[in-house]
Amino acid sequence: RVIVGTKVDQNHVNYVTAYNMLTGIRFTVSRINAKMDRELTPADFDAKHKFSFDITGNELIPSAKYDFKFKDYAPWVFRHLRAKFRLDPADYLMSLTSKYILSELGSPGKSGSFFYFSRDYKYIIKTIHHSEHKLLRKILPEYYRHVENNPNTLISQFYGLHRVKMAYGRKIHFVVMNNLFPPHRDIHQTFDLKGSTVGRDLQESDLERNPRATMKDLNWVRRNRHLECGPAKREFFIEQLKRDVVLLQKLKIMDYSLLVGIHDAGRGNEENLRDKTLQVFQPGGHREEDTTPNNLMRTPSKLENERKARELRMLIKRERPVPLDKSAAKMPDEILDERKYHVFYADDGGFRATHENGQPGDEIYYLGIIDCLTHYGTTKKLENFFKGLSHDRSQISPIPPESYGERFINFIKGITMSREEAERQCESRVSA
Ligand code: ATP
Ligand code: CA
Ligand code: CA
Repeated sequence: RVIVGTKVDQNHVNYVTAYNMLTGIRFTVSRINAKMDRELTPADFDAKHKFSFDITGNELIPSAKYDFKFKDYAPWVFRHLRAKFRLDPADYLMSLTSKYILSELGSPGKSGSFFYFSRDYKYIIKTIHHSEHKLLRKILPEYYRHVENNPNTLISQFYGLHRVKMAYGRKIHFVVMNNLFPPHRDIHQTFDLKGSTVGRDLQESDLERNPRATMKDLNWVRRNRHLECGPAKREFFIEQLKRDVVLLQKLKIMDYSLLVGIHDAGRGNEENLRDKTLQVFQPGGHREEDTTPNNLMRTPSKLENERKARELRMLIKRERPVPLDKSAAKMPDEILDERKYHVFYADDGGFRATHENGQPGDEIYYLGIIDCLTHYGTTKKLENFFKGLSHDRSQISPIPPESYGERFINFIKGITMSREEAERQCESRVSA
């Protein structure tokens, strides 16, 4: 199903919800930003603060257009996380609270979550299930530590966790996170990859109707696609991915995917990207699987990683910059400012394809691990049981976190292999 983003204006059914979300964010983020910085304490991770908004307001809370309640979770932790992700505090507020609200992507995947883009397209608000909310609160200390030790983590960057409750309405939990895709570059192909094959296929006929629909594992394989990284970037990428997956396995999380957006500089920007509301959106989807588990290799130390990150940055600097086309040149440079510190988001907001010989390729990859708040709990275990009755159990998507992670890494390792390497492996398999 293809969903086209629509501007959330006064006539939109979710206008009030979106308005309340943004009003709550504006108030709580300004409130925490106004305080003097301090170290985090364990209590900061459990903190929650409730605010009641109404049309009159009071000395503590400004008046709002509607009556609603807003809850802010772990504000100090998210303030520190935003700093670690190098967001500019004023800029964050501006993006999320400018008067031209958001565009809504509708509710894509099976999960029923709604997605909203900030007006400048930098941030995504995703409504989440109560169980995902509880999970994020529970794992927050470990997530925080991971971000601290892995400045180049590919796991979704969470910037805020909130809840809004309308008068007589239900409670809506939501997170604010990074949009992996850049505001100023056309994404020519999008893939949501899990490393599983069962049900992981977007009908090619759907693709004809909407060439920008998100494709899945089988579409990738059918196209004989390949992430060209060159040896240095590839090693660094896989090492980071492994570190991220080790965390997710430890936290018993599964069902996440590697989202890959591909910009082909050869094709440039064909569409009028100014009008973000026309950005086509095809949400997630479930089912899955394949590949045999392989033991995860040793993950490198933080120091080793920092050294490699430095080397890689040097390497990237030497590559010729991507030529900017006219429309891109008009975008403010600072849009991607915070991204230049992130190894995988440093080439124009993404990760420049590199040939085996070190020559830069024509494509820019925009990638990250998304949808990482599903705990392998009761629901998933049942799903595994039932799906396993009718499918090869190693091929379905809801498998335990350990094997899920192994299969995921193996798939990504496979698709980042150089063609030569892949051919060699293939030959040795044939001769064995
Ligand atoms: P399901 O649980 O059914 O898979 P979901 O509602 O949890 O769906 P996600 O898997 O998180 O949704 O995301 C659905 C789609 O939304 C992705 O395939 C991708 O196209 C888009 N998307 C999600 N997160 C991001 C992001 N951070 N940046 C850019 N696009 C995103
Ligand atoms: Ca998903
Ligand atoms: Ca999900």
